[in-house]
Amino acid sequence: MNKAAASDRSLWILPAVFTTLAALRILAKGQPLDHWLPKWDTLAMILVMLVLERVFRYSRAVSQRSVLPRDIASTLVNLYVTGFLTGLVLLPLLNYVPEHYLGRKLVFAPEQLGPVWLQFLLVLLLVSFVRYWIHRFQHANGFLWKLHSYHHQVQDLQATNTYVSHPIDFALRNVLVFLVLGIIGFDPLVLVVAVPLSNISGTFSHCGASLKAGLLSYVLVTPEVHRWHHSAHVPEGYKYSCNYGVEFSFWDILFGTFYLPQKDGETLQPERIGHPSGNADEPNYLKLLFTPLGLYPRKGLKGASADRELKSPG
Ligand SMILES: [Zn+2]
Ligand SMILES: [Zn+2]
Repeated sequence: MNKAAASDRSLWILPAVFTTLAALRILAKGQPLDHWLPKWDTLAMILVMLVLERVFRYSRAVSQRSVLPRDIASTLVNLYVTGFLTGLVLLPLLNYVPEHYLGRKLVFAPEQLGPVWLQFLLVLLLVSFVRYWIHRFQHANGFLWKLHSYHHQVQDLQATNTYVSHPIDFALRNVLVFLVLGIIGFDPLVLVVAVPLSNISGTFSHCGASLKAGLLSYVLVTPEVHRWHHSAHVPEGYKYSCNYGVEFSFWDILFGTFYLPQKDGETLQPERIGHPSGNADEPNYLKLLFTPLGLYPRKGLKGASADRELKSPG
């Protein structure tokens, strides 16, 4: 009874954290600090997650200290290089399409897309829908899974490994849709508010703290929801994985991929986090970066067998 009462009491924490982070992200735009330390709001968010992980310790937490250099390298690359390079390569192409075929810079004029509140909803739904399906495809397609599986080799979800991902895998899920958004023609105000908002639960889903989310898990991808996506044992009946949503979990509910079991009113969590085929975590960032592209020097049969193990499960 005490345990249940404690859970109920902690239910306010996640909505409070999300609201604070939302305010921080929106206010962060265009601040002088942005020039001095770009993406400082994301770094602040990771800091909040680190503090919560120490205050609300998760009983099945697995130390990630041995892979910390890999985590830091991957976070810095994906925060500061991946988006920049993807934009550099794709923006000329994306800008060319409306200019060449429609004779203007944007696909639609802002007034064609309806009132600001409708555009705001449209952006949130569009972004989360596209990311859900890209993520689902990253589990079903052999080559994309090769890239994405590194994100699934982590042994526990923690703030430090939120950005552990091959840059191409990261760009497909987290950069591409936002670049396309820029040429559609949405009101700039809508993008300034909706884009930072859409990333909050996606980033926070890797918080390793023991936080109860209650009904919030049926709308947003909370850590309780995302842990099942990383379960070492894929729940029965779910082909590759469950809970593919990046920010909203209602797409999983709608498309039959949601999984969040309950027992005696308590939300259950997976026994173990890890790769579904049992692959060990990859502490070497250069290996993570170059092996799936065939650019990391192999050492005889050992390398070849490691490559076979990376194949998609199921
Ligand atoms: Zn995944
Ligand atoms: Zn994840």
